[in-house]
Amino acid sequence: MSELRQNFMTKEWVVISAERAKRPDQMAVHRPARPAVSYSPNCPFCPGNEDKTPPEILRLPDGDRWRARVVPNKYSVLSPECKPDRTVRRSMSWMAGFGVHEVIIETPDHSLAMAQMPDAHVADILRIYKTRYDELSLDPRIDQVTIFKNSGADAGTSLEHPHSQLIATPVISHQVRERLQAALRHYDEFGCCIFCQLIDDELEEQVRVVLKSQHFVAGVLFASPSPFFTHIYPRRHMASFGDISAKEIADLGRVLRTLLAKLYYGLGNPDFNFTIRTAPAECVGARYFHWYMSVIPRLTHTAGFELGTGMFIDTVIPEEAAEFLRNVKVETTVGVS
Ligand SMILES: [Zn+2]
Ligand SMILES: [Zn+2]
Repeated sequence: MSELRQNFMTKEWVVISAERAKRPDQMAVHRPARPAVSYSPNCPFCPGNEDKTPPEILRLPDGDRWRARVVPNKYSVLSPECKPDRTVRRSMSWMAGFGVHEVIIETPDHSLAMAQMPDAHVADILRIYKTRYDELSLDPRIDQVTIFKNSGADAGTSLEHPHSQLIATPVISHQVRERLQAALRHYDEFGCCIFCQLIDDELEEQVRVVLKSQHFVAGVLFASPSPFFTHIYPRRHMASFGDISAKEIADLGRVLRTLLAKLYYGLGNPDFNFTIRTAPAECVGARYFHWYMSVIPRLTHTAGFELGTGMFIDTVIPEEAAEFLRNVKVETTVGVS
């Protein structure tokens, strides 16, 4: 039987379709391995081509070479060179396109997927995210800092070289605001953080947990909008990604790399996005919100029903997706439940 499941926070419904249900292994894309060229002469992110990017903001040095770099996005969607003054006229509201758009070049190696990097290098990348997040969050003109990764054409990028991005905006998106308010309503009604409750429930039920460590839990969503849609939650209550400790970053490096390796080897290197969902600077210390990472393999396309309703159809049963990922053996130092 198919089932309708409701997202704990957005309250949106998802159809878990038994009629169309596929076994998790049927979702594998088996993308042919790219030739493992660690250098591509025309790639703007490869070593030796540093002059093809705008001037560097940050570098993780490796002798006179580098292990990771942060640069402004050459094709930035927003610009820091203007003022975010808002104009509101009757039904319309607008402002100049102020914002910051940066690229994190994750490694000098052109073809090294994050799933294949050492855990410590993934932790280095997370540390860079935090450094940039902290600095931009101090800017009074910036309300929201979003860190994300697009990997592969189905996830929105044609650039092969491993990279992630950061976009800082002078507004809080409507979707983020709605989630903050939903979490606040829950806190007012029940006196506790909805995410802390969810983590307790998932650890008790176990069936959707993919892996857990001292500081983090990764699990497939109960109302997963697409196959293998996974959240990584810090087990300690923290509203903002900026609150993560040094020990927690090292641990998250292991957890994130292990989860990505399970997707990479279990599903044949699918395209994916990940994003860090965090309370904005104005809500630092909030007891009602809890930051997390969403990791989303892009195995299906949204179509008319999703566009017309905001409701999604998932063709892999979340508990089966989690069991499948638990059983993908990858080299790991993280406890698997
Ligand atoms: Zn490259
Ligand atoms: Zn919490």
